Amino acid sequence: MLTLNEWKQRAAEQSFLTHAFIGAERCHAASGQTFAVVNPATNAVLTEVAQSGEAEVDRAVRAARRSFIRGDWSSQPPAARKAVLQRLAGLILTHRDELALLDTLSVGKPITEACSVDVPGSAHIFNWYAESLDKLYGEVAPTARDAIATITRSALGVVAAIVPWNFPLEMAVWKLAPALAAGNSVILKPAEQSPFSALRLAELALEAGIPEGVFHVLPGTGEVTGKALGLHPDIDCLAFTGSTQVGKYLMQYAGQSNLKQVWLECGGKSPNLIFADAHSLAQAAEYAARAIFYNQGEVCSANSRLLVERSVHDEFIALLTEQTRHWQPGDPLDPQTRSGAMVSARQTRRVMEFINGARQQGAHLVCGGEQVSINGVANYIQPTIFTGVTLDMTLAREEAFGPVLAVLPFDSEQQAITMANDSHYGLAASVWSGDLNRAHRVARALDVGTVSVNTVDALDVCTPFGGGKQSGFGRDLSLHAFDKYTQLKTTWIQLHSAAGVDSL
Ligand code: NAD
Repeated sequence: MLTLNEWKQRAAEQSFLTHAFIGAERCHAASGQTFAVVNPATNAVLTEVAQSGEAEVDRAVRAARRSFIRGDWSSQPPAARKAVLQRLAGLILTHRDELALLDTLSVGKPITEACSVDVPGSAHIFNWYAESLDKLYGEVAPTARDAIATITRSALGVVAAIVPWNFPLEMAVWKLAPALAAGNSVILKPAEQSPFSALRLAELALEAGIPEGVFHVLPGTGEVTGKALGLHPDIDCLAFTGSTQVGKYLMQYAGQSNLKQVWLECGGKSPNLIFADAHSLAQAAEYAARAIFYNQGEVCSANSRLLVERSVHDEFIALLTEQTRHWQPGDPLDPQTRSGAMVSARQTRRVMEFINGARQQGAHLVCGGEQVSINGVANYIQPTIFTGVTLDMTLAREEAFGPVLAVLPFDSEQQAITMANDSHYGLAASVWSGDLNRAHRVARALDVGTVSVNTVDALDVCTPFGGGKQSGFGRDLSLHAFDKYTQLKTTWIQLHSAAGVDSL
């Protein structure tokens, strides 16, 4: 790992890709418009980037459609696609430091996390889907003997992926890897805060051997580029990760245009349930801190509601408060930093509004609650814990997307379940209990996509990730992700008896 000074040196020398990537071409926006990308750790503009408009979206869709129809990628033998995606995984690892730096500079996440989690995680996901794509078999249906019906999967065509800024490279790869593995052509719109790793990935994809015209990256704002993708009549599927509000817009766009499929990974207000019979309250407290303070709390499945059995409430809060010393913010480029800058001054203000609102609504501030200045820039927030939160308070209901924890006590298992499910989100939950029966009972009763038992935020490429209610629908990761990027085809072959043979 490089030192702080070495990272600073690299940051000073880092160049940025600033144009849309359509086919193998770098394109200006026809409108001539650009938008600024700001480093939240310095508030300095890193560069201006082309604002892709309807013209660029249409160009990319046409190129993607042409490549799909020609079969440049979709008709290649699975083993060939596999080799290309494996090469891409290798190139991601070779360029680990550069990709990590691009994400850290644009969103403020700790460089150590970007290097050790985001980039290797992205390479691993490409490798996993590369390995899986030539192991997908079709089915033969149990028809009567006078027919054979096969059920096969084929790529959809043109997939558009719209992703957020909190894990810029990794969130993109969650969509790209299975969509490309299935043989689709893909258009990626990164968040306007963080376009650089996606643009660099497009270059690496070409180098790996993905044919020109198959993978495009369109930087731009949601209202312009995202909306144009949502409304385009020749996109087959929109794969989205982001806020619930924007997820609702995408469904409207699909309805107003061509009824394209829409898959939504949206927000959450995930509960972490601590029962008094947990094996180790100390370990549960360590994990509970990570579950809310990791990545500055800018995690969709952050365990932002802590439900604690009343008999251990005070003991647990003392253990948890002690853990916050590990999560004090620091310079994102310092390899020792575990918690970096918020993504923007705007997001810092938004999270501070949640903190001030919780104070006004009568919650008790246990620790944190303040903005912090580092190198003269105040885009940092202390790890913050509120007790005495009630289910009607904004902090218990809405996603702050920052390092702010709402603690609510409970008195019985049933009450804990009822409180946990009292949310319009349903993404994830954690349960801490040493009683196997209780763990199973509670896990079964929680209305969420993933339940982590005696850990937090369990996540692996081999398990599906996604939620229900207003956290969205459809699953990323695992073989189930192929359901989003392929369609089933039934081919029915009627068999006729040969002359002179009575029955088949
Ligand atoms: P956001 O919804 O504002 O933006 C996400 C993406 O949508 C960006 O690329 C943005 O440009 C685009 N967009 C914005 N407005 C649009 C519009 N009108 N039409 C089309 N596209 C539009 O979310 P964000 O602030 O970037 O990210 C934070 C949100 O993402 C949180 O709610 C978080 O929970 C969620 N998230 C969910 C998951 C998950 O897997 N469930 C993972 C990470 C983040």
